[in-house]
This record gives sequence, C-alpha cells and structure tokens, in this order.
Amino acid sequence: MKLLEDMIKKYGEVRPGNVLKVDGFLNHRIDVGLVKALGEELYKHFRSDKITKILTIESSGIAIAIMTAQCFGVPMVFAKKRKTINLSDDIYTAPVHSYTNNKDYDVMVSKDYIDKSDVLLIVDDFLANGCALRGLIDIAHQAGATVAGAGIAIEKGFQGGGDTLRAEGLKVVSLAVIDKMTDDSLEFRKSE
Ligand code: 5GP
Repeated sequence: MKLLEDMIKKYGEVRPGNVLKVDGFLNHRIDVGLVKALGEELYKHFRSDKITKILTIESSGIAIAIMTAQCFGVPMVFAKKRKTINLSDDIYTAPVHSYTNNKDYDVMVSKDYIDKSDVLLIVDDFLANGCALRGLIDIAHQAGATVAGAGIAIEKGFQGGGDTLRAEGLKVVSLAVIDKMTDDSLEFRKSE
C-alpha cells in the first residue's frame, strides 16, 4: 500500500536488532487518517470471509484493529499481556516471545469474548518471526473459533514469519512488506 510505504520511508527509523521505529505515525503518535485507510484496505481483502470479530494483541495492534473492526461492523477483542483484577480466571492463554523486548510472556483472552461460532481476523501492527500471530492463533483454536486470516500493517519479510505461515496455508495480508532493511535503505516487496 503506497500510502503506508511512503510514511515508512519518510518517518520510519531503523534501530539496532532489525527494529523499525514507527512511533511518529503508528506506535505512539497515531495518524488516525492513515490507520483508518489501513482498516479499509484490510476490509477489502477479507470482506467475503464472514468475519465476526477482530482479534489483536495489546497495545500497538489496538488502533489498527479498532479501525478494521469498524469497517466490518464487528467487535474487536485484544489479548492482554497482564493479569488485572477485572480479568476473570476463565481465560485462554498462550505463550508469546516478544520480539521488541526479547522476553517471554503469556497473552490472555477471557473465555467470555470469543467462542466456536466466531470467524476471526487477526490484526497486528508488525509481523516479524510470527510469534505474536501464532500465540493469537493458539488462543483462537482453544476457543474452537475459525481463523480466516491475518491482516498486518508492516511485515518484515526478511525475518520469514509471514512466508512460513503462508506456506502453512494461512491467508496473510500485509499492507507493506519490507524485504531488505539497512540503516539507510528499505526495499519493499512488489505487491501482487
Ligand atoms: P513477531 O512476534 O512476529 O516476531 O513480532 C511481531 C510483534 O513484535 C508485533 O506485535 C510488534 O508489536 C512487535 N514488533 C516486531 N518487530 C517490530 C519492529 O521492527 N518494530 C516495532 N515497532 N514492533 C515490532
């Protein structure tokens, strides 16, 4: 998606460890117009999949997931990373390795909010090795829900997580795929 690629080229900063910082428009200050356009684009790709809920992970997936959920007219559920007093004990949990913090944690979703009648679209801001996505797929399967696919803003294609999931049969739509990233250059995958 050209608009997203242009924003990445203009405002993205490459940090040590192959981390792309996009705090200026996606992860800290949020460009609402851009995120709305991302939601609309994901809607085009999954509109015929009878999506009943959008599933994401806190916190940086939430903005895109909300805008996407609004396009589908369905609720958005986000997996929590911390157990709060409001979260019931009746939860689905899955382990996730955090790429940006380099630590393992459990993500949790209350059993009240997804079930076997759901057709889920999983949405996230980044796809790198695929751990976050696999954790959410695990939770969806525990609930007996169907996963229609994953809609991602930025995929770091050179880390391989997206292509492995595609090879396993998952429909993964990424709106910008970076195939090569150095301190001063980015190469995007041509869209099909
Ligand atoms: P994965 O689990 O696929 O390895 O990484 C995806 C998760 O890690 C996303 O939820 C995202 O928040 C975070 N992440 C991975 N790579 C980056 C990156 O380069 N920049 C930022 N801002 N987040 C990233």
